[in-house]
Amino acid sequence: MKIHEYQAKQIFADYEIPVSDEILCHSVKDVEKAAEKLGLPVVVKAQVLAGGRGKAGGVKLAKTKEELVNAANQILGMDIKGYTVEKVLTAKAISFTDEFYVGLTIDRNTKSVVFMASSEGGVEIEEVAKDNPDAIHKFVIDAEIGLMPFQARQIAFKLFDDIKLVRQGADLFEKLYRLFIDTDASLAEINPLVITAEGNLMALDGKMNFDDNALFRQPEVLEMREPTEDEKTEIEAKEKGLSFIKLDGNIGCMVNGAGLAMATMDIIKIYGGEPANFLDIGGSSNPQKVIDAMNLLLADKNVKAVMINIFGGITRCDDVAKGIISALEQMDVKIPIVVRLSGTNAAEGLEILKKTNLVTVASMGEAAEKAIEMAGQTV
Ligand code: GDP
Ligand code: MN
Repeated sequence: MKIHEYQAKQIFADYEIPVSDEILCHSVKDVEKAAEKLGLPVVVKAQVLAGGRGKAGGVKLAKTKEELVNAANQILGMDIKGYTVEKVLTAKAISFTDEFYVGLTIDRNTKSVVFMASSEGGVEIEEVAKDNPDAIHKFVIDAEIGLMPFQARQIAFKLFDDIKLVRQGADLFEKLYRLFIDTDASLAEINPLVITAEGNLMALDGKMNFDDNALFRQPEVLEMREPTEDEKTEIEAKEKGLSFIKLDGNIGCMVNGAGLAMATMDIIKIYGGEPANFLDIGGSSNPQKVIDAMNLLLADKNVKAVMINIFGGITRCDDVAKGIISALEQMDVKIPIVVRLSGTNAAEGLEILKKTNLVTVASMGEAAEKAIEMAGQTV
């Protein structure tokens, strides 16, 4: 789950990480009022759940009232990476002498939280990682002990020469680590962290993502949720007992079991296709689940073919086949479907499906090939 900059900075402020004075606004009028309160100059910043707003023109400094109105007019309603800007943050402009990047995330290789820090702040960190990876310092944090004060100072020494800033930095990093752990975050990023003209550290931007599986114990985080259209679908799916992630391809996948769902996406890719989703319908042959799953797939206009991939273990393939038939009887599906059944009672299942116009196959490879072929023929 993602949150907006203004929300991330509220969390930062709760943990006493310095942020600029700022007011969330929904209209040009709001922005004018906010600027009166804060005093010019201010920075007007698009609040969308996407990065790189600065580059896209979604962050503008306004020194005069005229500039302010122009900035607000330009940014409100603007499209950034497919998101329409509906609100902006009006923040007191800060003069600074230097920009840094600091961020915490979970590193799968070390199975730990890693602290990343770089003097190359302000710009997109993904570009620094690509062009100049040595400019990013990484510190692996022991999950049992957490971020030790000496480690926090080590990180700070990488960024700052001035001992006053090293102390401030170390203190700030410990706070950032604490809030990361407390909120079950998967990402907490400050970019840029600046040295203000007065010589203090301040978070000028904030980004946080959270572990969806921990939201049940994070009511305050959950309250900040503003799901995107794709996330809304995923949440709906979850409520129906399906685990669904939307992707960008054209082959809809319906699979029983998370591992098999991963393998299904892999095999589609190997044969040169693109999966439209990850979908695990779980270990039941309940026709309602098949209907719900099919509805999810069909709601995506990119889906040109469906690949149903079932491995019968405790779930019997003949039951699944009956489920599929009863589901399809209740709906009007126009796109081609290939079904691969394997495992318990696969032969019986395939026999049942022969009576339908579904394409049936016995191996995953065949299913993927067939799905790709059919998707290519569907308009
Ligand atoms: P992003 O492009 O989405 O990461 O948006 P940021 O909030 O990081 O803003 C982009 C850039 O705008 C920053 O790296 C700063 O250089 C600049 N910026 C943001 N806020 C201020 C501010 O208060 N004062 C000044 N002078 N520049 C700012
Ligand atoms: Mn930024």
